[in-house]
Amino acid sequence: MPKIFHGNGPWATLDTGIAGPRDASALLDAGFRDGWAILVEDGIIVESDTPDVLRARHPDSETTDLGDSLVTPGLVDPHTHPVFTGTREDEFEMRNQGHDYVAIAKAGGGIRNSARRLRASSEDELVADLRARCDGFLALGTTTIEAKSGYGLSTESELASLRAIRRVDADHPLDLVPTFLGAHEIPDEYREDREGYIALLIDEMLPRVAEENLAEACDVFCEEHVFTVDESRRILGRARALGMKVKLHADEIRPLGGAELAAELGALSADHLVAVSDEGLDRMRESGVVPILLPATSLYLNLASDAPGKKMLDRGLAPALATDFNPGSSPTRSLPLVMTFACLKYGMTAAQALGAATWNAACAIGREGKVGTLADGALADLVVWDLPNLRSLPYRFGESFVSRVLKRGEWCFERAGA
Ligand SMILES: [Zn+2]
Repeated sequence: MPKIFHGNGPWATLDTGIAGPRDASALLDAGFRDGWAILVEDGIIVESDTPDVLRARHPDSETTDLGDSLVTPGLVDPHTHPVFTGTREDEFEMRNQGHDYVAIAKAGGGIRNSARRLRASSEDELVADLRARCDGFLALGTTTIEAKSGYGLSTESELASLRAIRRVDADHPLDLVPTFLGAHEIPDEYREDREGYIALLIDEMLPRVAEENLAEACDVFCEEHVFTVDESRRILGRARALGMKVKLHADEIRPLGGAELAAELGALSADHLVAVSDEGLDRMRESGVVPILLPATSLYLNLASDAPGKKMLDRGLAPALATDFNPGSSPTRSLPLVMTFACLKYGMTAAQALGAATWNAACAIGREGKVGTLADGALADLVVWDLPNLRSLPYRFGESFVSRVLKRGEWCFERAGA
């Protein structure tokens, strides 16, 4: 039976009719309706209108009243690293005592530390850990995540990580969009033979990932102590030839030219961009690459500077927001927290931050119009917030105001007592 979900509160539908990633002025319009209703069939929004009109048109539908609360699309997190084994609270404390991230990585910590631990886990253990972590995304209002591999750094462990993502996606309400990130670090056994590891990525891992259809996109950590621009171009070029979309961890610490490479390759997104050049920003805008801002990471790493989010908005780019959820540099799943940081650091309005964490985030993972909007044809993914208006969402922080979460037309989270 079709279902109607209706409410009298403010609905930020993001249904504004503007196609493609949205710039600063387009993001100001969150598609507000003062009271709204959606008709859902098979998990998809098939019609929307005012509550009275929709109920009169479909009198046989099952109806659910969402009251006077704020309603938004389910949030979309376009950059996460959720497949890992163990946590790194010891490194957090080391960094706070004055050791820097690059020095810890060079000494065998960081990503290589996580890789050693992940390789000791079976695929079933990876699945169990990942499944447990997914509940936390839903509880914080996120209904779709991009999920990267990248802590295996060997053919078997990378494939196991991607298979774990596929298995959890199949039976958990959260949607996981898989990205292959074998080029996350040079593993211990290839420290003296980086060309050997790049050959392994290009000649063995990528073809296997493509053959099993395990990833929609390929990502590379393009950074001074990891992969150069030329190496990134070779790896991503191979991925594109195999039919994958491409993404980059670009210019996080130094301005290497990762943003320019993202533009050259027509990447879906370039992420981090703390040290991006003005030239890189302009090239990205011309090529329609979505910059993904990860303000929780720069805060958590205590970086002296942050990505130029305000400048991106002023220069006509269309940024998305993500948590960067990972065990080292950003152990949070909270997009509402990231939205608060984005308002504080980049001067975003609440509507712009919401649009960056829904519509633009969906564009950054190849899901435009399918998630991150309450438009007809989108998945029936929404969040009911214990908040009276959208401005309250980034204004309140450090606690959750998620009341209920609907995924594909089914309730998948309800806060106790809500
Ligand atoms: Zn990342």
